[in-house]
Amino acid sequence: MTEKLYYKSAYLKEFTAQVLECTEADAGFDIVLDKTAFFPEEGGQGADTGTLGEATVTHVFEKDGIIHHLASIPLSGEVLGKIDFAARFDKMQNHTAEHILCGVIHKLHGLDNVGFHLGADEVTFDISEPLTKEELREAEELANRAVFDNIAVECYFPDEAELASLDYRSKLELKGNVRLVRIGEVDLCACCAPHVKSTGEVGSIKILEVMRHRGGMRIWIAAGARALRDYRMNKENLGEISAALSVPKSEAAEAHARYMQETDKLRLELKAARRALAEEKAKSVRSTDGNAVCLTEGLGMEELRHFVNAALPAVGGILVALTGTDGDYKYIIASNSVDLTKEIKQINQALSGRGGGKPNAAQGSFATDLESIRRYFG
Ligand SMILES: [Zn+2]
Repeated sequence: MTEKLYYKSAYLKEFTAQVLECTEADAGFDIVLDKTAFFPEEGGQGADTGTLGEATVTHVFEKDGIIHHLASIPLSGEVLGKIDFAARFDKMQNHTAEHILCGVIHKLHGLDNVGFHLGADEVTFDISEPLTKEELREAEELANRAVFDNIAVECYFPDEAELASLDYRSKLELKGNVRLVRIGEVDLCACCAPHVKSTGEVGSIKILEVMRHRGGMRIWIAAGARALRDYRMNKENLGEISAALSVPKSEAAEAHARYMQETDKLRLELKAARRALAEEKAKSVRSTDGNAVCLTEGLGMEELRHFVNAALPAVGGILVALTGTDGDYKYIIASNSVDLTKEIKQINQALSGRGGGKPNAAQGSFATDLESIRRYFG
């Protein structure tokens, strides 16, 4: 069994240890030490990183009480271990934050934590039933009050008798050698991970997102520097939005909603105006028994469709409505007398075109010049 130094102190950054085993692994060397401060991947929390001697430690896992370190080079004898403590402390803050919030939710609503993930970028936990926005806000409020109260976080191994007498949160039915994490009256939970020594070190706890998940809810949180990063990101984005809308940050959402309403109204007006323009242009199509080729500059495909609908009664043969320039024309071809399903293949072949449609209308593009198109339909 590897001696777990992180249980003596979660704040141990450096240690010396003896290399007991060094074997070649898939991506480096698997190092077993007599003792270690590296916390392995366990209980939803990612492994510590750092160095052992000159080697970089990229992964740490535990198997049958033995902790394995995946190192970049082989090692032997006595080595100095250094863990990336900034990353570790960040995990301690966020893991403790999760305990506080889950403890509060458990006390308020009797809900269980049924899932936990603490990675480098994200902290999530799952609860057995969904909570309302107001309930989440209340839990967040109380969790932060527990931070302000700077309550001691005690990690200990109770004996069997004491364990049996305690009511603690746990994802599994546990027996023997159970490590408990007590946060005053806020929470008592079985957990193997390193935590901060008092809640004040958590900094602050913010619920970022929630999502319905397996009949319950998944909750994203951020504490410590992660909460600060999230605050900065939000502030910068909100700052840009409020500056663009020329309103204070506190009024940005309302101003944005107004702006979107105005935009929607303008979009509808623009659509109607474009349709009217297309229909106006269609009036200039002269009545003919033959074909008509019309270049309608400045119209999009939707307006082109309105143009065709309005102009088609004047055309006895095939109406070709184009938009674009030589070499790149978009077309809508329509006819009340010719079956286009047969014609369109031939038309496309002759005019470097692609596209198709129904018997009375087709849509596509021509990679040729206007002169050739006119000549073909002339
Ligand atoms: Zn935990």
